[in-house]
Amino acid sequence: MTTPKPMFSRVAILGIGLLGSSVARAIKRAHLAKHIAGHDRNKAYLKAAQSMHFADSLTDSASAAVKGADLVILATPVGAFGAIARAIAPYLKPGAIVTDVGSVKGAVIADVGPHLPKNVHFIPSHPIAGTERSGPDAGFAELFDGRWSILTPPKGAKKSAVATLKKFWEKLGSKVDIMDAKHHDLVLAVTSHVPHLIAYNIVGTADDLRNVTQGEVIKYSAGGFRDFTRIAASDPTMWRDVFLNNKDAVLEVLGRFSEDLHALQRQIRWGEGDALFALFTRTRAIRRSIVEAGQDSATVNFGRTPQPKPVKKKLAKKKR
Ligand code: NAP
Repeated sequence: MTTPKPMFSRVAILGIGLLGSSVARAIKRAHLAKHIAGHDRNKAYLKAAQSMHFADSLTDSASAAVKGADLVILATPVGAFGAIARAIAPYLKPGAIVTDVGSVKGAVIADVGPHLPKNVHFIPSHPIAGTERSGPDAGFAELFDGRWSILTPPKGAKKSAVATLKKFWEKLGSKVDIMDAKHHDLVLAVTSHVPHLIAYNIVGTADDLRNVTQGEVIKYSAGGFRDFTRIAASDPTMWRDVFLNNKDAVLEVLGRFSEDLHALQRQIRWGEGDALFALFTRTRAIRRSIVEAGQDSATVNFGRTPQPKPVKKKLAKKKR
């Protein structure tokens, strides 16, 4: 079988952590580039990535990585995008597509767009796929399979470049939607950003409670709390940048969340069981539709893979 002609001669990935290295691995899997140039500021990651073979070259210089690239992907935390865009701008190939994997879009367009030359196509992306892990060893080629990626082309973006990028994400395994950056930021505030904030908050509160020792919080952690700790273990730099860069939408959703929480508080205080039951029934149906849409599995494991039963050692009785 002959391998298909790659879509790109050279792809530069700036930031080779979970997302960057997963994109690189998925590009290799689908043979989409002749050369993948990886860049990171983290020297330990660059060294470790040498034996992982997802990039054809690795460098600590962003400008060296982007030279001659027809696709450039920003995959660092979003707070670093503006400075990186400024640094690479003079080295970008005319006609190149510049995209990113950042979790917010409005701030990224504002931070990156003004630095880029007119002769490149800047089309932001956000793959809705990830884990709570970080670094190049956390990445895997299947991360985007069956998940959504959202493109937010700014006004005037060239249609053919948008179509090329859409095809690229589809070949990585994604389904693709195109929407306005502001709408993206509101939707993601509801589905991802505020849920992460709630997890950070509940885990922080449990840790702060003086009458429950940390030992008890860990020893008796029930399914609900344990699931929150998985989310609250997500990368601190990435999530700090998400909240600082999607401030308006997050604050708007938080306002609504606080009102609903107060309503729940009232229902509990006044013993309004029917209202509680109605809400819990509605939320259970939402979980079912997410599973039916193929966006999660119904397998009950709460992140716990079954452990083999410990082998009982037969204690040989000494015959006297
Ligand atoms: P990650 O595993 O921590 O990787 C980020 C990498 O970027 C790290 O190696 C980091 O190095 C490097 N970096 C930071 N600042 C840099 C700079 N100025 N120049 C060059 N490299 C720099 O993070 P990730 O989870 O892949 O997240 C990357 C992006 O993907 C973020 O924008 C995030 O919003 C987006 N995203 C994440 C997820 C998710 O679930 N994780 C999902 C969708 C989208 P240091 O270790 O030295 O900081």
